[in-house]
Amino acid sequence: MNSVIFEDRQIIPSKVVCVGRNYVEHIEELNNEMPSSMVLFNKPNSAISETLKYFQEDTRYEAEITLLIKDSKISGIGLGLDLTHAKIQNYLKSKGLPWERAKAFDDSAVLSSFVSYEGSLEDIRFELYINSELRQFADYSLMIYKPNEIIKEISTFMTLEDGDVIMTGTPKGVGVYSRGDIFLGKLYEKDKMLMEVMWEAV
Ligand code: ZN
Repeated sequence: MNSVIFEDRQIIPSKVVCVGRNYVEHIEELNNEMPSSMVLFNKPNSAISETLKYFQEDTRYEAEITLLIKDSKISGIGLGLDLTHAKIQNYLKSKGLPWERAKAFDDSAVLSSFVSYEGSLEDIRFELYINSELRQFADYSLMIYKPNEIIKEISTFMTLEDGDVIMTGTPKGVGVYSRGDIFLGKLYEKDKMLMEVMWEAV
């Protein structure tokens, strides 16, 4: 089983629950419909990776704020990349089929380590740089569904086990990447940096 690092401890998530379409400008950039209810999908434990692999030319990165759950509450926070095979996803969407082949493949949930987090998520924001260029940024105010709403909604039909991870959706600025690209993610609470992660696409 794959694990994640939480304050120097190894945690084995049973699953990664992802929110789709949680930022208005990202919904527009992919010409998606505004959802009438929360779009949720899962990545299995086998999708978790700490390294960013290059797959193919249409594989898209989506940087997201990630939450580590304990006792049905947020216990840690980090950053992740929800990797997506864009062409396969477009095909599956057009046919109304499940997304696993586009979203749940091995190493598709690239996760940073987590830092313990207490406090009001309202002041959380992140930035993603690729090869030193700012490509994505987001903060709490831009999220359609806020983290506590997400946890509540998931819990209406699926148990969040201790150690499970939630990926809270991606803002605008998604795109494809090449082998050798350097990704730098920075997570802040107001102006205080909570954590930083670097991935090189290999
Ligand atoms: Zn995503």
